[in-house]
Amino acid sequence: MSHDISVELLSDGVSYWDGGGAFGLVPRVKWMRLLPPDDLNRVPQDLRCVLIRDHGRNILVDGGVGDKPNEVRAAQYEVHRPNGTLIDDLARHGLGRADIEMVIFTHLHGDHSGWATECVEPGVSGAYQPTFPRARYYVQRQEYEDATHSNERTRNTYFAENFTPLLRQGLLTLLDGPADITPDVRVVPTPGHTAGHQSVIVATPEAPTLILGDLATYMIQFARLPWVTAYDVLPMQTIESKRYWQQWSLEHEAVLISPHDTLIPTGKLVKDKKGFLQVIPTP
Ligand SMILES: [Zn+2]
Repeated sequence: MSHDISVELLSDGVSYWDGGGAFGLVPRVKWMRLLPPDDLNRVPQDLRCVLIRDHGRNILVDGGVGDKPNEVRAAQYEVHRPNGTLIDDLARHGLGRADIEMVIFTHLHGDHSGWATECVEPGVSGAYQPTFPRARYYVQRQEYEDATHSNERTRNTYFAENFTPLLRQGLLTLLDGPADITPDVRVVPTPGHTAGHQSVIVATPEAPTLILGDLATYMIQFARLPWVTAYDVLPMQTIESKRYWQQWSLEHEAVLISPHDTLIPTGKLVKDKKGFLQVIPTP
């Protein structure tokens, strides 16, 4: 078996979110020391995406906020892009839109599915085209159902123009549970943040890579079970999902990739002598 597989981090910029949203029930005095908020109580969240190079195939995991004009989105995400967009970052990695063969969404929230489609004619409804013209896209069926049947609480997190054009054009595969996307890339359900949320396991050499998605927004939330965001629709399920994947990560010494952590983009979960879990950064 060759190990012609690698994982690289990409970014669509940095977004600023209310710290209370990011840390939920955890008191501000506890999280503010780890991640100091600005004077509007906002904390930074990297809009991280992942590029998997799998035996010559380029696979993208998650798609940032994108660049469609939308006032709700602009107010909600407060995106800063000193290094440009995801598309600029792909270009720095030598890749154009047509080089991406597969796109996997951990879930369809607006900060993870933005670049799935682009607006080709501003102001014209229905003028959304897949950004990556040769790609097949993957998401859990449950997530697509929830995203297209949002409720009062989830409405502002899903933007239909990001994903309905993909299904209409037959480019979106709806998954029912765990699935091997390639022999080296597997998706696994990690419900909690949303009911249809999934994470991605890559069979990288030495140790597997676990792309968490919003199973844990920040690494500290992966290490501490009760630290769950206010956005999670099934917080008790998040805790059970984390409990299982904590054990798995310890057993496999997995490399973890965070979707939003600005301080620890990648790390390993370790247990100290007292039994406390923490994620230590990896290079
Ligand atoms: Zn997110």
